[in-house]
Amino acid sequence: MMNWPDKIVICEVGPRDGLQNEKSLFTVQQKVDLIEKTVQAGAKIIEIGSFVHPKAIPQMADTDEVAKKMKRVDGVEYRALVMNVRGLERAEAAGISKAKLTVSASRAHSMSNSKRTPEEVVQGFAKCAAYAANHGIVLSGAISTAFGYPVEGRIPLEQIYSVIAAFREIGVHELSLSDTTGMANPQQVYEYGRMVKEKFPDVSWFLHFHNTRGMGLANVVSGMLAGIDRYDACFAGLGGCPFAPGASGNIATEDVIHMCHEMGIHTDYDLDAMISIGRSVQNMIGHDTDSSILRAGKCSDITCS
Ligand code: ZN
Repeated sequence: MMNWPDKIVICEVGPRDGLQNEKSLFTVQQKVDLIEKTVQAGAKIIEIGSFVHPKAIPQMADTDEVAKKMKRVDGVEYRALVMNVRGLERAEAAGISKAKLTVSASRAHSMSNSKRTPEEVVQGFAKCAAYAANHGIVLSGAISTAFGYPVEGRIPLEQIYSVIAAFREIGVHELSLSDTTGMANPQQVYEYGRMVKEKFPDVSWFLHFHNTRGMGLANVVSGMLAGIDRYDACFAGLGGCPFAPGASGNIATEDVIHMCHEMGIHTDYDLDAMISIGRSVQNMIGHDTDSSILRAGKCSDITCS
């Protein structure tokens, strides 16, 4: 008998990971509407943007305004990406109390980005950890390119352990393994998922998949079988990856919800509401996206005549 979870949690990363990869700039009001509607549709965790330098990611320059303007719902976690103490200060001023720090697991990628190893990058976050602890902000860590990186190939588990240990060292207890480059396969996800859970039982885990090579949902299934019940996903399957040529989007939130509901796994989401959000996102950006449900509809829509 396979051991399926009763329920999974899906963090909607669209307002951050999705929109930052789109050429079209959204207005503050459009972002606020998307965030509020997604929360109404059932999101309990939502990534609302990034507090990074506006020159680095112009699409996220207005995250402060978005955070101040959006209506909040009790019990929903609104999180944002930061890279340094300056980002945490902005998060705090905007009333965001959950911040995510990202490091690349790939040594080659980390060195070319920052001339530092992944462990050194995480050690550099110690200042953020101190600031967060003193200002009531909870930190989360994202380990990107955790499964593979183009020039380096598969990232060995030992390398992942070492980055996790560095995060543990600065007191971060929630981590995600992100397949930024779309290189993870289900067997690898099962192995990595089981191993990190076993080796770091006090860490709570997220998995973050891109559907670049069509393995996204299969990887979610593998993650569930490995005992991980929290996943990032993005409305309409938006997103890409600036350093992974040909990368397509994050797994689509509506695809994950639909699959889970077909399997009898609860998600908290209203699928129809997320489908209509996905459609309006496609209309706003003006192009098709990698979402099976937006393309084909739900299983239950099919009628035989
Ligand atoms: Zn992503």
